[in-house]
Amino acid sequence: MSFADLGLEPKLLEAISASGYETPTPIQKEAIPPALEGRDVLGIAQTGTGKTASFTLPMIQRLAKGRAKARMPRSLVLAPTRELAAQVAENFDKYGANHKLSMALLIGGVSFGDQDAKLTRGVDVLIATPGRLIDHFERGRLLLTGIEVMVVDEADRMLDMGFIPDIEKIFKLTPMTRQTLFFSATMPSEIQRITDQFLHNPARVEVSKPATTADTISQRVVRLPGKDDKLKRNVLRELLGHADVKNGIIFCNRKTTVDIVAKSLQKHGLNARPIHGDLAQAFRTETLDKFRNGEVQFLVASDVAARGLDIPDVSHVFNYDMPIHADDYVHRIGRTGRAGKKGAALMLMTPADKKHYDAILQTIGVDDIEALDFSNFLEKQSGSRSPKPSKSSDRPSRRHSPKQEAETSDNSAPEAEKTPARRTRNSTRKSTKHEAPAEPVVGLGDHVPEFMMRGIAS
Ligand code: AMP
Repeated sequence: MSFADLGLEPKLLEAISASGYETPTPIQKEAIPPALEGRDVLGIAQTGTGKTASFTLPMIQRLAKGRAKARMPRSLVLAPTRELAAQVAENFDKYGANHKLSMALLIGGVSFGDQDAKLTRGVDVLIATPGRLIDHFERGRLLLTGIEVMVVDEADRMLDMGFIPDIEKIFKLTPMTRQTLFFSATMPSEIQRITDQFLHNPARVEVSKPATTADTISQRVVRLPGKDDKLKRNVLRELLGHADVKNGIIFCNRKTTVDIVAKSLQKHGLNARPIHGDLAQAFRTETLDKFRNGEVQFLVASDVAARGLDIPDVSHVFNYDMPIHADDYVHRIGRTGRAGKKGAALMLMTPADKKHYDAILQTIGVDDIEALDFSNFLEKQSGSRSPKPSKSSDRPSRRHSPKQEAETSDNSAPEAEKTPARRTRNSTRKSTKHEAPAEPVVGLGDHVPEFMMRGIAS
């Protein structure tokens, strides 16, 4: 089946072939025809399946008929994070290259002025994070009564981030007659409730998860004797140092840990940058661009910041912290082994992680994940270090659950961004200084883990 068979018009087909795509992915095959008929679509699919095109293409085809009016956008795409919204905007530019449609990206961390000016001129498409959209609406700069197509992307992530009340509010501000294209990787009951309430007789389209635990990703765990942050960083560096590791994303559960790990890697001369919701938008965008073009080798990330990012060619994913939610494990390791390429996922595990580990095993449907034998390395580490316990500097001064972070780190409310953005600039400046390694770098000796012997196909 070709894109032409789906009922897409020639101008879109040209843009698709200019993007280098020849055949539609399963979600595109199933979601585009009903969307073109004007039906609501409930797409159960995650990132990496081609879902963005499955709503962007029919949206453009529908918008091609008609014109934008001032403050009355005709189409709205809601995405949970700024990066994801920016990615949708990139897709819109790519597929809409042969159309004269205007678009405004309403995300936090960007001044209201430019966004307002665009809205006043009139845009066909709004791509927004929920918080920033509501800010604009409440400032009276925007009317949603002209919305013909509304897209909700990564709804389950919005649920995790506490955006569901905002989404309900936005639904109610749009006309009942709108077409809704709604995407979620999973269907928890809260999401089911929203779709029951706001979608009309949707075409339900479900595609299986992209390869995660399957053939293309080799998964390994490194078992550590206890929660020792310094040891964890040493082990991480050991893993990063291998020649097979072309590039990678290192996941941490907390923003504070992201900062500490990124700084530590930089101090040891590794090319790493942090990304999380408290960092200034310009820094995040620059980091992502540099990671994509290979200028940055390692991205140290929180789940919220990394969710849904389309980053091709990641050879390795490192779970520095074990994810608290088993679903996050699947999302994290799904950053590698994409499009049939080989990838590796490595996870550090302390005895305290056992409960979460078991939940992950259950989710991915395996009895265990093969452990790397790090005993030599760990022995050398304990021999080369003083017996005094580490300061556990990763631990925040007050109790702060990772869940709380997920809910706050990408909230687009501008007030929440000012102070952390300042802090970021300071920490960035400090972290780019090159200092001599403070911690002993201990080699693997004659122990070379088996996974490292296998080439990672590029
Ligand atoms: P998404 O799930 O929308 O984030 O898309 C995942 C990746 O697949 C992106 O890099 C897209 O550019 C790419 N992609 C989307 N549709 C196709 C297609 N039909 N053929 C090949 N690649 C595609």
